[in-house]
Amino acid sequence: MINKLKNPIIAAWLLAAVLLTGCGGAPADSPPERSVDFFAMDTYMSFRFYGGDPALTGQVRAFVTDMEKELSAVQEDSAIRQLNRTGSVRLSDTGADLLRQTLALCGETDGALDISVYPIVKAWGFTDAEPAEGSARIPAQETLAALLEKVDYRQIHLEGNDVSLPDGMEIDLGAVAKGYAGDRLARMLKEAGVESAVLALGGNIQAVGARPDGSPWRVGVQSPDKDGLLGVLSVCDRAVVTSGGYERFFTDDAGNVWWHIMDPATGYPARSGLVSVTIIGENGLTCDALSTALFIMGPERAADYWRQHRDFEMVLATEDGCLLLTPGAGDIFQAEDGLPYRIEVIRDD
Ligand code: ADP
Ligand code: MG
Repeated sequence: MINKLKNPIIAAWLLAAVLLTGCGGAPADSPPERSVDFFAMDTYMSFRFYGGDPALTGQVRAFVTDMEKELSAVQEDSAIRQLNRTGSVRLSDTGADLLRQTLALCGETDGALDISVYPIVKAWGFTDAEPAEGSARIPAQETLAALLEKVDYRQIHLEGNDVSLPDGMEIDLGAVAKGYAGDRLARMLKEAGVESAVLALGGNIQAVGARPDGSPWRVGVQSPDKDGLLGVLSVCDRAVVTSGGYERFFTDDAGNVWWHIMDPATGYPARSGLVSVTIIGENGLTCDALSTALFIMGPERAADYWRQHRDFEMVLATEDGCLLLTPGAGDIFQAEDGLPYRIEVIRDD
């Protein structure tokens, strides 16, 4: 079962993030601490913020569950489910805004991010409650080839709030919805007067301002090969998003590991040499999109992408035990003591 595999890891990770951010304590004169924890978007949400109206806890939770109700690819009566079934739907302003920005990111990443890869994700059993085990789970090459003909985000048509798809295409916003939700929640809290918050949406962290005592938020980056951390990032007003092959995977009868991040060019789980990608930036949606897309691109193309954009920082963990950091990430990342990884800084020319 996928969730049984995934949730203990996420839970441990969340705990690490929350414990780390909790140390130090708030000064006596800081605004009251408010928190809300719940399960949504297939993961654990844990939000903590200081000040604002007590009703905000209910409002932030409602925002996430409303978004999920509309945009989930699996909930029976969601708009996305209807779109995938009938080929067209009218989205809310929130849904249309997310889709518009996501399509731009699919283009920006040259289709490494492609939300129309969903039929491939399904074929690999990553959406099933009771997926097949072992090699039985690997789809036939011909099945993947036929499904790949329907994968092309450029054929998703969005006009105003109305979206339509060509016959046979299905989409899934799972790679970006939590990042977008983090942005919107951060904005909502700031508008309500909150100056300090940390929002954990599964593997996505959105930090608002600094901790109440003025020091940066400390966010743990999970180790891809075992419980525990690669290190800790110190951030203010940033999103920190990690995508890793270790989050959802299965092992075939020959011992090969297959995970839930798909290369839209091949229809197979991305084997790019990376085992985890952490993106740090101002915009949660962009960080979420890039954590998935750069995982697919691999270390060299990811470094080139960074050189061309430079509006984010990243920590890449490679299969052969190397941590590749952008220079800016080097300034805010503290590796765990005795970490068995070689650390290299990516050249910026
Ligand atoms: P998670 O949501 O587990 O933190 P990601 O943000 O990396 O991880 O998103 C992975 C999810 O996105 C997968 O579960 C799948 O539904 C979908 N997906 C997989 N590959 C792609 C891709 N190349 N482009 C867009 N979505 C993808
Ligand atoms: Mg993502």
